[in-house]
Amino acid sequence: MEQQPTIWNPVAECMPREELLTLQLGQLQQTLMRVAENVPCYQGKFKEVGFNPGDLKDLSDLANLPFTTKEDLRLNYPYGMFAVPMRDVVRIHSSSGTTGKPTVVGYTKADLASWTELVARFMTAAGVTNEDIIHIAFGYGLFTGAFGLHYGSEAIGASVIPISGGNTDKQLMIMQDYRSSVLVCTPSYALTIADRMEKQGIAPESLALRVGLFGAEPWSEQMRVEIENRLGVIATDNYGLSEVMGPGVAGECLCKAGMHLAEDQFIAEIIDPDTCEVLPEGSVGELVLTSLTKQAFPMIRYRTRDITRLHYETCDCGRTFARMEKTRGRSDDMLIIKGVNVFPTQIEEVLFQIEGCQPHYQLVVERENNQDKLEVQVEVNEKIFFDEMKQQRAFVTEAEKKIHSALGLSVKVKLVEPSSITRHEGKACRVFDNRKN
Ligand SMILES: [Zn+2]
Repeated sequence: MEQQPTIWNPVAECMPREELLTLQLGQLQQTLMRVAENVPCYQGKFKEVGFNPGDLKDLSDLANLPFTTKEDLRLNYPYGMFAVPMRDVVRIHSSSGTTGKPTVVGYTKADLASWTELVARFMTAAGVTNEDIIHIAFGYGLFTGAFGLHYGSEAIGASVIPISGGNTDKQLMIMQDYRSSVLVCTPSYALTIADRMEKQGIAPESLALRVGLFGAEPWSEQMRVEIENRLGVIATDNYGLSEVMGPGVAGECLCKAGMHLAEDQFIAEIIDPDTCEVLPEGSVGELVLTSLTKQAFPMIRYRTRDITRLHYETCDCGRTFARMEKTRGRSDDMLIIKGVNVFPTQIEEVLFQIEGCQPHYQLVVERENNQDKLEVQVEVNEKIFFDEMKQQRAFVTEAEKKIHSALGLSVKVKLVEPSSITRHEGKACRVFDNRKN
């Protein structure tokens, strides 16, 4: 039997950093030439700052270029940001826009090939092989998640079950009968599946599941532990966004020490989301990505709005690419309450440390008499919910105390009945900020 690789593309993924930086510079120069020639939006942006693509001599010069934002993509809807004629575009996807029109992205044949390669890389890094049966429970459609994982799985030689999202009972039946060994979905949907398994009395050992590839929303380390215990899988994180490519921009290896970012295809910067300045190595801030190889839809300094941190030391797995910490949330999801920055994942981490807490919660922000008030509504198990007041009170006090010491913020914790918070089959919706209404 042919030996399956543990690193999909060792030449790229384990490249010495010096060589990588030389490669990035050359590709960046070519990308800038291409967008300056073909994309009016970039022609305008470069003109505004008096930049000629030939001027870029060093990677540090990138910091002088303007950013690209979601707003730029909206203004150029639908095809204005494409750098190739439509005859060269073979696939169209769009991003899940919550407001206004979704943004449209395109791929040439070469773009699809590199996307597939990047997904195959992170799947392999998570231990997936051609022996696996991949259960893809992301919705198939304009969203990039399902198709990205689909083609990556096929490239590895694994068997794909394109079940798509929804209908959890059917998902479970297929998982049992077809012996799915790898689950692909959002982390919150993984917990919805776990809930249903418990309700139906399906033990995780009775399934063939061994690995979970979870992405498309931020999730905490505590949530990872919860999913691993309840589904009996190794749960790994991966990262991507449609505007930049889709899943495959970064993915975890089995060291679980951050997601390796495909630096042979993207340059990553971390900026202060308020001042827009590039922050020194090791800082927490907003991730900004520049594509190096994309043909149809190149992106220069795209503001992802995702808050994270990058680590550059070589990983124990041997890969040399920077490792990106789990995203803490989006800079637009960040709540500012009484001047304190709060991400939902920070509260989630605290809640998961408390006995009896269920992994379902939501945050409600109100403004009363010009004062911000944050209420954390959390599901607790039946034992606590139906127990005497004293015990409920103790739980609430503990949770409020722990959140206060972790975030420096006083919040009100409210216990809600098991299963009373709406379950989402796609992305979890955890924040209700009523101050804006
Ligand atoms: Zn690694």
